[in-house]
Amino acid sequence: MDVEPLCLLLPHLAAVEVQRVALVGGVIRIEARTRDDAAAQCPDCGTPSARAHSRYQRHPADTAIGGQPVAIDLSARRLFCDNSVCPRHSFAEQVDGLTLRYSRRTTGLLEVVRAVAIALAGRAGSRLMAVLGSVLSRTTMVNLLLALPTARPACAPRVLGVDDFALRKRYVYGTILIDMESGEVVDVLSDRTGDTLAAWLTAHPGTEIICRDRAGAYADGATRGAPGALQIADRWHLWKNLADAVDATTRRLRPRWTPPPPDADPAPEEPDAWPARPDPPIVLRHRERHAAVHALMTRGAGVTRIAAELRLDPKTVRKFMRADTIEDFLATARGERPQNLDRHAEYLVTRFNEGCTRADILHAELTAQGVHVSSRTVRRFVQRLRREPPTTTGTGVAPKATAVIKALLSHPDGRAEEDNLLVKEVCTRSLEMETVHSLIGGFATMMQNRWGITHLDAWLARCENSGLPELETLARGLRQDQEAVRAGLSLEWNSGKVEGNVNRLKMLKRQTYGRARLAVLAKHVTQP
Ligand SMILES: [Zn+2]
Repeated sequence: MDVEPLCLLLPHLAAVEVQRVALVGGVIRIEARTRDDAAAQCPDCGTPSARAHSRYQRHPADTAIGGQPVAIDLSARRLFCDNSVCPRHSFAEQVDGLTLRYSRRTTGLLEVVRAVAIALAGRAGSRLMAVLGSVLSRTTMVNLLLALPTARPACAPRVLGVDDFALRKRYVYGTILIDMESGEVVDVLSDRTGDTLAAWLTAHPGTEIICRDRAGAYADGATRGAPGALQIADRWHLWKNLADAVDATTRRLRPRWTPPPPDADPAPEEPDAWPARPDPPIVLRHRERHAAVHALMTRGAGVTRIAAELRLDPKTVRKFMRADTIEDFLATARGERPQNLDRHAEYLVTRFNEGCTRADILHAELTAQGVHVSSRTVRRFVQRLRREPPTTTGTGVAPKATAVIKALLSHPDGRAEEDNLLVKEVCTRSLEMETVHSLIGGFATMMQNRWGITHLDAWLARCENSGLPELETLARGLRQDQEAVRAGLSLEWNSGKVEGNVNRLKMLKRQTYGRARLAVLAKHVTQP
C-alpha cells in the first residue's frame, strides 16, 4: 500500500513495514511487521543482533486517530543474542519510539496516559482517556501512576517548608514538605507527627532552614531530625495565632462595648418594680434540676451518681453543682451566651424608637416571643438606650463581632471606608478594643518590616500587660517558641509557597474523588 502519507501521519511507524489498515469493530487495526534486516539490542548486554529466532504477534494499543481507537497488529521477531558471554539466549525486539518491553501500549499512548494520570489520577483520568479514544479503568490509571519513578532527592532542600494538610478532615492528616527556594513539593508524609518528620530529616540530611508552624510536633521533629537547622515559625501561622486571639477577645468583649457615660457608675440595682412573670418552661426545668442536684449533693452524692440518677450529662451536673442558687445558675448560663440579648437588640431598639421605652413591657414582649432573658438584662439595655439614644445612622447596637474582627485584621492601607469607621467606632466604645487594635498594628508593622529581632520583646511585653487574657496567653505561647518566632518575624522566608501547594493538594484530592491514597498523592505532587 501507499506508505508515504501514512508515514507523515504516523511517524512512529516509520521503522516498521505497514501492510494493511482496516476498521474492525470500531477499532482501526494497523497491520505491521518489523524489518528483517533491522538490528535490535539485547536487553541484558546491549549487543545488537538481527539474527531471527522466530516471529510472534503483539497488539499494542496506540493513540486514537480521528477519535477512533487504534491497535497495531505487529509481527515482531525474537532475536538471538550472539554475545557468547551473555547469559541470554534470545530476546524480543523492541522498536524505538513504538514498543516497550511488557507494555500493551505504544510509547506514544503511554506518554499520554501517564500525563493524564499525573494530572487527574483515577476516575477523572479514566474519563478523559475514554474521550481520547482509549478505555482504561481507573485502577489501571492509578497503577500506571504508582509505577512512575519517583523523583525524590536523596538530600533535603536547603530551605524546607513543613505544613500539615487534611487527607480526611479531622481524621487523617499528612505532612507536605516543600523546597522553599524552588517552590516544588519535595515529599508527602503519611502523618503529622514529630517522629515521622525527624525520621525523614535524618534520612535526607542537608537542610539548613526549616519553616514550620508554631511549636508542637514539627518543632520537636525538626529539632531531633536536623539539630543544626535554624527553625522559623512561619508568618502565616503567626498571623493566624494572632487572629484567633483577636477573635476570642472581640467576642468576649462585645457585650461590654457600649460604655457607660462618665457620670453613671454602676448604680445599685433597684428592686424589680413590676410583678414577677411566670418562668418560661426551660427555666422551670432548670429550677427543678438544680433543686434535684442540690438535694442529692446534701446527701453526699458525687457527680457520677447524680448524673446517673438524674440521667444528666456529668458536665451539666457540674454546672448545677457549681451554682449555689438557681439565679446564679441562670446568670452563668446567660454569661456563657452573651449574644443572647444582642440577637434581639435590634427589636428592642426599634420598639424603643417607636416610643415604647418601658423595660417591663419590652421584657414581656420578648418573653411572649419565646426569648428567655431576664428582666434585669432588658432593663439595663433600656437604661443604656435612654443614656445614649440610637444614632440616626445605625441602631446603637454594638457592631457584629465578625465584621469588627475582619476590619481589625485587614491592612489599614487597603481597608474599606466602612471598615475604618467600624474600627474607629469600636475603639471609642471600648478602651480594651483600642488596645487590641494597637497590638494588631504593632504586630503587623513588625511582621512586614521584619523587625522581629528589635521589636518582638517589647510587643510581647505589651501583650502581657494588656489585661486581655487571650493576648496574654498568645504572648506566653510565643515566648515558649521565641527563637523560631523571632526568626519568622525577621527573615524573608514565608509560607506562601507551602500554602499554594497545600491548595494544589486540595484540588488534586477533589479530582481524585476520594481515591487520594497517600501514595497516589505523593506521586502527583512530586512529579515535575
Ligand atoms: Zn545479550
